[in-house]
Amino acid sequence: MADSIFMQIISGEVPSHKIYEDDKTLAFLDINPVQPGHTLVIPKKPITYLWDLDDEDYMAVMHTAKLVGTKLRQTMDAEHVGVKVEGLDVPHTHVHLIPFSTPEEFRYIPDHRNAPDHEALMAIAQKLAF
Ligand code: AMP
Repeated sequence: MADSIFMQIISGEVPSHKIYEDDKTLAFLDINPVQPGHTLVIPKKPITYLWDLDDEDYMAVMHTAKLVGTKLRQTMDAEHVGVKVEGLDVPHTHVHLIPFSTPEEFRYIPDHRNAPDHEALMAIAQKLAF
């Protein structure tokens, strides 16, 4: 089976707006953000479902989510950071971290047909990067 887009991001084959990386996890900006700063945290192992991760990788993903979520709360102009796991599109588990202030902002559905605004993403990644 071909590597998913997230394995290609881990290998560097596909560029990403990286925020954080360690030996088990990677965090990068979603290119179709629900709100500015929307970040995805993924394990480096290509496991489809979050709860199929072994405990060590699961805890590593959650630890990175906490680290990055805390930075999002400190850095972005938002009252909350929402956490969501859907996995409808990419078969590689990922935790969405979404800064928001109102319920409408959290529930907003971006139009994925729009081209990503890489300039804006790059500026946000620079503020958030560890
Ligand atoms: P889902 O699988 O439904 O939880 O959503 C997958 C998410 O991955 C969507 O929010 C996409 O915008 C995002 N996404 C897809 N490809 C990329 C990419 N190359 N870089 C960053 N985010 C991506």
